[in-house]
Amino acid sequence: MAQILDGARVRDAILDDCRPRIAALPRPPGLAVVLVGHDPASEIYVRNKVKACAELGIRSETLTPPDSISTSELLAIVQDLNRRPEIDGILVQMPLPSQVDSKQVLLAVLPEKDVDGFHPCNVGALVTGRPGPKSCTPAGIIRLLQYYKIPIAGRNAVVVGRSDIVGKPMAMLLLHENATVTVCHSKTRDLATICRQGDILVAALGRPAALTADFIQPGAVVVDVGINRITNRQEAARIFRNSKDKLDAFDRKGSVLVGDVHPLDAAEKASAYTPVPGGVGPLTIAMLMLNTVESAERRLKTAVS
Ligand code: NAP
Repeated sequence: MAQILDGARVRDAILDDCRPRIAALPRPPGLAVVLVGHDPASEIYVRNKVKACAELGIRSETLTPPDSISTSELLAIVQDLNRRPEIDGILVQMPLPSQVDSKQVLLAVLPEKDVDGFHPCNVGALVTGRPGPKSCTPAGIIRLLQYYKIPIAGRNAVVVGRSDIVGKPMAMLLLHENATVTVCHSKTRDLATICRQGDILVAALGRPAALTADFIQPGAVVVDVGINRITNRQEAARIFRNSKDKLDAFDRKGSVLVGDVHPLDAAEKASAYTPVPGGVGPLTIAMLMLNTVESAERRLKTAVS
């Protein structure tokens, strides 16, 4: 039986690490979240982030400009947050409306307050191994592997997906941990053969249950970043091979979540794997909290000296 890598346990350990550090600061860390418009998924993400802040004692503030906002108006909001000393972290929830130049907005966030780790300065710091906020999901995955004492150094790690927020920073973090890293994408030829070389396989392609048994080396550690909501009952039945539990859950909710790796195949072939939900998902917000605490620590130390 494959070991289940429980993201909630790792999340709790990360948050436990944050608590004494928050208590040691002269004031609570401050996180500003900019939520433009009313995208339902973004509203849920922001609500969860604000809740996590409240539970930890991080002071959060949500700004909700309308979805008609222009790039220059949003830039003015970000610049105001950049100037405010009690704000340690700024998070602009993506996606932004189409008339807004997202790249310009992300570039405007002061790198020291960029708790998502998306600013090119922080990407550069990541590449060159310098301190700074790191993209939350990949940084959380490294914490998960360390928590479960899964060796990384010298192992073959295959990352499927090369997005700026998951695939690329994941590959870089694994490289810093001395894995031999291969990055795959939609133009990769013979993906299954390459994936099977992975002692550690990280799936971040956004395709429901796409990596099946053929893609998994027997005994590999499988990290499934994908979150895909299946609303078609037939598709759910096919993926879960008519599992009664899953189909009952589908019938209650009208949908079911599935990762990018086939869940039953992962359970059968891997030595350890992250379930969906409950694997990688809980780590992202926890790492956002940690990035905010570390930003406050850096900034308050700077302010004192
Ligand atoms: P993304 O920006 O859409 O990037 C997907 C990547 O996968 C791209 O690099 C793409 O290649 C590659 N790809 C797509 N189809 C492929 C295929 N058939 N074979 C090989 N590679 C393929 O997605 P993302 O933002 O990185 O997110 C990936 C998944 O993780 C999504 O399911 C998302 O919901 C989930 N996610 C979860 C969390 C969490 O907290 N758990 C956080 C972020 C994202 P090209 O570059 O060639 O197009």
